Amino acid sequence: AWLNPQNPPDATTYFGWVRSIREAARELPETPPADLTALSCELAEMAGRDGGIVATAEGKRALHDIEDALGIVSAEVVRDLMDERPVGGDGATTAPPEPVRTFDVDAMRALVDGPHRDIRDRVRRLLRDPQFRRPDPQLTDDEYRDVVLGWLKLLADQGLGALAYPEYAGGQNDIGAFIAAFETIAFHDLDLVVKFGVQFGLWGGSVNQLGTEKHRRKYLADTATVDLPGCFAMSERRHGSNVRDLQTTATFDRQSDEWVIHTPTEQDHKEWIGNAARHGRIATVFAQLVIDGEGYGVHAFVVPLRDENGETLPGIRIGDSGHKMGLNGVDNGRIWFDNVRIPRENLLDRFAQVDADGTYSSPIPSASKRFFVMLGTLVGGRIAVGSAANSTAKA
Ligand SMILES: Cc1cc2nc3c(=O)[nH]c(=O)nc-3n(C[C@H](O)[C@H](O)[C@H](O)COP(=O)(O)OP(=O)(O)OC[C@H]3O[C@@H](n4cnc5c(N)ncnc54)[C@H](O)[C@@H]3O)c2cc1C
Repeated sequence: AWLNPQNPPDATTYFGWVRSIREAARELPETPPADLTALSCELAEMAGRDGGIVATAEGKRALHDIEDALGIVSAEVVRDLMDERPVGGDGATTAPPEPVRTFDVDAMRALVDGPHRDIRDRVRRLLRDPQFRRPDPQLTDDEYRDVVLGWLKLLADQGLGALAYPEYAGGQNDIGAFIAAFETIAFHDLDLVVKFGVQFGLWGGSVNQLGTEKHRRKYLADTATVDLPGCFAMSERRHGSNVRDLQTTATFDRQSDEWVIHTPTEQDHKEWIGNAARHGRIATVFAQLVIDGEGYGVHAFVVPLRDENGETLPGIRIGDSGHKMGLNGVDNGRIWFDNVRIPRENLLDRFAQVDADGTYSSPIPSASKRFFVMLGTLVGGRIAVGSAANSTAKA
């Protein structure tokens, strides 16, 4: 009955078998058997029970038939079982035999990797470094978040954060290469991929896509090196998918030439914002632009959150979104703004500009079209998340 795939053994029974087989296999000679049938024969012979029966041609054929029916790739299962072979005389564990290549693996990898194979290869090599080993699972959330920030900096040191940015920010203007790197990191660790996406794709990407050259020159180089950890503060407690009706306001103060960023009620705070709870020093904040009581819709503003020592700036309140079902290496947080003042130039003004006298202008006259053009520039993030999900499924 155990050989019926519809009625497999429970996990306890299965792992009990694996332990027994590994235990018995310690007595086997150094060279592991080639397949499960050979392994069964050797173990049965060692145990002195039924060895003769199993080893007959008929017995072997029956075992091979069972393997075929179960769809088992026999050599792989043996390698897996032999993983815990005894330590050899020189102290080194016996390396598993090299798999027999029946096709050109390098040619296949180049084909699957596609046009960005160099960057994928670089990322794979980097992630094999022992510094990227998974940390102790007993770490607190904050300790784990700091490990992931350290990993992010290692990737930034290799220039991976700047791939999509202009050359003057140390980049290559290559969003395809950035997405390929993102997709490859997802084979390794999802906390790192999200941290990478928030810092370089969401925070840096929004400055790059929604801002103009003055913003790119001011922020992107430090963003790419993670000297300036940032956030993408769009979602609110009561407005996630419905971005158009966000409640945070950015009101123009003509006298001081500033925007006043404000959270109107306790329930309208920014929610789930990656990098906010611990590391972020600045954010792209999405808010309703208001001039003289007139609303012009949702726009993006650069708002500093913390000083260089990590102290929260006046008017900013930050909470921690807390322990999550997963992705606990990412510090998601909540943000409230109490009449926080930022200079007029902090409006990311690629699609709409406001003069010192409060005159609003935009090359896109329709408010709803402007809104969708703005959000459309962020679509790279959706492609990246889809690609990363594919990697996770493959891994
Ligand atoms: C771990 C994590 C990290 C995040 N990081 C960030 C971040 O860094 N920055 C940021 O700004 N946000 C972030 N978010 C917020 C995320 O973008 C929102 O959760 C998302 O936009 C959905 O909003 P919501 O949770 O309010 O769900 P809702 O908008 O309330 O949606 C709830 C459900 O209703 C469905 N729904 C909504 N509207 C419609 C409709 N019109 N028709 C049919 N179905 C609909 C949705 O598909 C969903 O299934 C993060 C969220 C999580 C969980």
